[in-house]
Amino acid sequence: MKERKILLSERDIPKRWYNAMADLPNPPSPPLHPGTKQPIGPQDLAPLFPMPVIEQEVSAQRWIDIPEEVLDVLSLWRPTPLFRAYNLERALGTPAKIFYKYEGGSPSGSHKTNTSVPQAYYNKISGTKRIATETGAGQWGSALSFACTRFGLACTVYMVKVSYEQKPYRRLMMETWGSQVLASPTDKTNAGRKILSQDPKSTGSLGIAISEAVEDAATHDDTKYSLGSVLNHVLLHQSVIGLETKKQLEMVGEKADVLIGSCGGGSNLGGLVLPFMPDKLGGQNIRMVAVEPSACPTLTRGVYAYDFGDTVGLTPLVKMYTLGSSFMPAGIHAGGLRYHGDSPLISQLVYEKILEAQAYHQVEVFEAATLFAKTEGIIPAPESAHAIKGAVEEARRCIREKKAETIVFNLSGHGHFDLAAYDDFLSRKLTDFALPDEELKKSIGMIPTV
Ligand SMILES: *Cc1c(COP(=O)(O)O)cnc(C)c1O
Repeated sequence: MKERKILLSERDIPKRWYNAMADLPNPPSPPLHPGTKQPIGPQDLAPLFPMPVIEQEVSAQRWIDIPEEVLDVLSLWRPTPLFRAYNLERALGTPAKIFYKYEGGSPSGSHKTNTSVPQAYYNKISGTKRIATETGAGQWGSALSFACTRFGLACTVYMVKVSYEQKPYRRLMMETWGSQVLASPTDKTNAGRKILSQDPKSTGSLGIAISEAVEDAATHDDTKYSLGSVLNHVLLHQSVIGLETKKQLEMVGEKADVLIGSCGGGSNLGGLVLPFMPDKLGGQNIRMVAVEPSACPTLTRGVYAYDFGDTVGLTPLVKMYTLGSSFMPAGIHAGGLRYHGDSPLISQLVYEKILEAQAYHQVEVFEAATLFAKTEGIIPAPESAHAIKGAVEEARRCIREKKAETIVFNLSGHGHFDLAAYDDFLSRKLTDFALPDEELKKSIGMIPTV
């Protein structure tokens, strides 16, 4: 029998996170205060995050110990399996070897619990009573709800209204774990009321929901804010994905030629690829590929500039690829990839050409998703399906170039809560959205000058 599942034992769960900040070829651009536009210090973040999280956000220490209490919760589903996709390879007729790391076995069904658990833990030991956050499609909200209930914290989730209405099961999951879920924009925050006064029928956006959650945390002493992607400490926590993958590839004597992740804010991609960055910078030939939706093409059509992380302009300004914080992405199904910005760390590495970026339309992404479901069995989240599409295209290139490369992608989550999207695809209701240049010009033109 051929080896299909490459498993680590529980003892092999990484004990330390890898911090790519220690190995960046060039220094990062500092975040700026939204008012003064001067570099901010740790103290400026204190109303939003607990100190241990802020320390990790600004840390350049290469290895950071994972606390025992966090390991204890992570070990519920970690280490995660690495699969060899023999059936997909055969269906494509490719000489390439395709591997995928599967993060969908966590309690909430995606990689996001890798960071929600440590974030909840650091809040708990810092005296936080409640965490406020936003969620788009519901994956982050459910991951944080699970983590908060494990550590006895209350959790308020501002859920983008269109998802709140379309995805009742994600909402119920969060409520089952004890969270309060609100349809954003709400009338409970200044940010929400401002949006509603301009557009009473607003179906919300991730940027608006972030504004509401940030305001909630900033105006309540016992409440902190938590973000499920984009920030350095989130990518740090996700490094367990790549650290395990490295070990698993070594176990079967393989070296990755191409590493692929879907990219919304950059956390599952960063988690997979960043632990391989020292090898790449040391001369090993590894390509690292971010895959995003053509309807929200932050890395492939955005600009590299200082911008706000939210719509209203409450967050620090960070240097990143952005479509402009006023950009309203089309209602594509990969909700977790509908964000105007991207991780500053990932953005810098794309700008410096260490990472590559590709964009695909949603119909071709769902074609890849169903091919994967039929060959490998797992029904992927629409976000993860972007990584599958990227891997399929690389495998097809290997056919043309007659190369037996090793392709590794991250299957960031399962799609069991996304079957309405599959319904649209199967009944041919799913359409592609060509984003006009004029629309991009408008939102990019509104990026603040610093
Ligand atoms: C949130 C999410 C993503 C996108 O977020 P990143 O921070 O870019 O990883 C991708 N896949 C799944 C399953 C998600 O839930």
